[in-house]
Amino acid sequence: MLEPESLFPCTLAPGIKAGTDWKHRVLGRDKICAVVAAADAGAMRRQLRVASRETGTVELRLDWLAGDREISRFLEGLKVPRKAMLIATCRRRSAGGKYVGTIAAQLAHLAEAIAAGCQWYDLEIETVRQCPPKLLNVLLADGRQLTSAHFFDRMPKNPGRVANELARGKSDAIKIAAHCDSLRDARKIFALGHARRNVVAVPMGDVAVPARLLAIREGSAFTYAPVENATAPGQVSLEEVKRVYRLDNLTRRTQIYGVIGDPVGHSLSPTMQNAGFAARHLDAMYLPFLVRDLRDFVDSIGPLGIRGFSVTIPHKQAIPRYLDGCDPLAARIGAVNTVVVRGGGKLYGYNTDYVGVLRALEDRMPLRGSRVLIAGAGGAARAVAFALAQSGAIPCITARRTARAKALARAAGGEAIDRASVRGEFFDAIVNATPVGMHPRVIESPLASRELNCRLVFDTIYRPRITKLLRLAQQRGIEIVSGVEMFVAQGTAQFEIWTGERAPTSAMRRAVLSALAREEADSRKGS
Ligand code: NAP
Repeated sequence: MLEPESLFPCTLAPGIKAGTDWKHRVLGRDKICAVVAAADAGAMRRQLRVASRETGTVELRLDWLAGDREISRFLEGLKVPRKAMLIATCRRRSAGGKYVGTIAAQLAHLAEAIAAGCQWYDLEIETVRQCPPKLLNVLLADGRQLTSAHFFDRMPKNPGRVANELARGKSDAIKIAAHCDSLRDARKIFALGHARRNVVAVPMGDVAVPARLLAIREGSAFTYAPVENATAPGQVSLEEVKRVYRLDNLTRRTQIYGVIGDPVGHSLSPTMQNAGFAARHLDAMYLPFLVRDLRDFVDSIGPLGIRGFSVTIPHKQAIPRYLDGCDPLAARIGAVNTVVVRGGGKLYGYNTDYVGVLRALEDRMPLRGSRVLIAGAGGAARAVAFALAQSGAIPCITARRTARAKALARAAGGEAIDRASVRGEFFDAIVNATPVGMHPRVIESPLASRELNCRLVFDTIYRPRITKLLRLAQQRGIEIVSGVEMFVAQGTAQFEIWTGERAPTSAMRRAVLSALAREEADSRKGS
């Protein structure tokens, strides 16, 4: 039987303090724990085969199987993949799992799993509390116990005290999974991994998605990634963890970047920037941060070792308040979409949307002297308006809040246009800088077909590639420009600001286009 230390290969060795000698160690592929969860034994076996091709650590969610007979059927035919470390879990419903049998039956299944070759089992604290320690010592003697506590809708008041309780008795390792409303909460969970050995730290919830991935460099023994079915909120699939984030390569040296926004799930920036890092062989990772509270994110930049980030909806105009300095162009636009973290943790802002707008438009139409209608008066609209004005075009702004349209028109030296009069006017181009029509609300358009009196329509939205607005324009024979052009241009400019290297534009564009093509194919299949 292997010792617990070797089963959790990268937790801290005795006497080694977090943040010292261990911090430059390469964390291996086994730091990703694939979660195998399905209702029938055949599907579980299929998932196990997929999992074992990608990682050596696999959790078998026996409680997902449809009843006691199916669990036994699966375990009887279990073939343990070579070098794999299997963790059997049969979590009861009262602890957030799916198993509805008695504790005696749960323990019997775990004993079956150990006999079938699982080295570890995960046992929730709710069950441990009800079992005399001697019973576990006898029944599950040959297995190593990962004692777990789950807080699906809150943070525990005192995670340290929970950890102490988990570590008692037969426990060989502990796991705390807790819902985090903020990155501050996630850091409290990480603190457990800094202080102890053999800890699995699992920040849960949508705000904690990046923290889940970063947990493994904060001392967590591993992070969970489902092969098919997510078994907890905020899990990132095994496929994504491997292909998009290349989590295997994460070390304490890896430079962390990301995008902050709300919503942020739609963003293809992680796909594009991570493809760029991979193409340039950079030890860097780019993560999506769902940020509702900018202060919380800014406070986490230092502790999480974040080196730069993109800013998206709705934070572009609010982030300058938190910066130590700003590029003069971004200051004039009044919106920042790129932040770099400099020495001493100083934050410096740029606007690369501006570059993106110009690259998308300047080869397609003469900008000087043209009149361009911009729908929206937010961060993207400001970049569009200033880029156009700088190139000698007249930006005409229409927005649902007239005061904002007027303010932007004044700042950029353009005109504010009342929505009611759009229909009666002609523009050289129309630009959508609102989120109307963005995934998943793809059937919406910010303007009606009869309002498209122009030569060219440019939608800054890139997901979907061809929006409802662009379709309406196509139907009227108007030239269209997709937001993908701007997206790749602003993203490559960000890459260059952060890394100081020339961006691998083709690789980044390819990654975006193939993600969009996959999505289009999926939606065709679904419809
Ligand atoms: P933002 O700062 O929040 O501004 C959004 C603007 O759209 C505001 O004027 C807002 O009006 C307006 N708006 C929102 N919902 C609306 C609705 N239902 N009807 C009418 N107007 C509405 O956001 P942003 O950062 O400028 O982003 C806007 C869009 O640009 C997003 O879809 C984003 O994907 C796209 N974008 C694309 C790129 C690219 O590289 N392709 C880059 C940047 C942005 P209120 O002020 O009244 O809320």
